Amino acid sequence: MAISSASFDEIRAQLGYESENPRIFEWYCFFESEVIDNKSNLPFAPEKAHRGSYGRRVILTGEVRGANACGFPSTTAEQYQKKVIAISPHSHDGNQKCRMQEKGSVLINVPVSMAVSDLNEFSCTEPENTELYSYIKRLYI
Ligand SMILES: [Zn+2]
Repeated sequence: MAISSASFDEIRAQLGYESENPRIFEWYCFFESEVIDNKSNLPFAPEKAHRGSYGRRVILTGEVRGANACGFPSTTAEQYQKKVIAISPHSHDGNQKCRMQEKGSVLINVPVSMAVSDLNEFSCTEPENTELYSYIKRLYI
């Protein structure tokens, strides 16, 4: 199969996902306390987690380790001193309840984990024509 012809569903099939499982390229919204930095094993945003804040958007990168889904967090903070991919507000066909309506960044060297049981608020699937989509796709092909 040529790389350029790999569809979303073919990639998912190669990764062994069933349709009901967390899906690569999907955005979800979390309580800060649910988003754990893989390197420190602490919340990605400890102070916000301590305050009980809600609203961290994370894109799933497809890895599932046991009961955890892995992803990259997004932020609307400017001048973040980490490796990022800039993201623009999404526009989708139809009326999805998309939560990606602000300019921001995705921290692509800060892998985070969330319990699969905390994947409660689905936002949308990352549009296929973005730099972020291409980056995550390249991680697996
Ligand atoms: Zn969206």
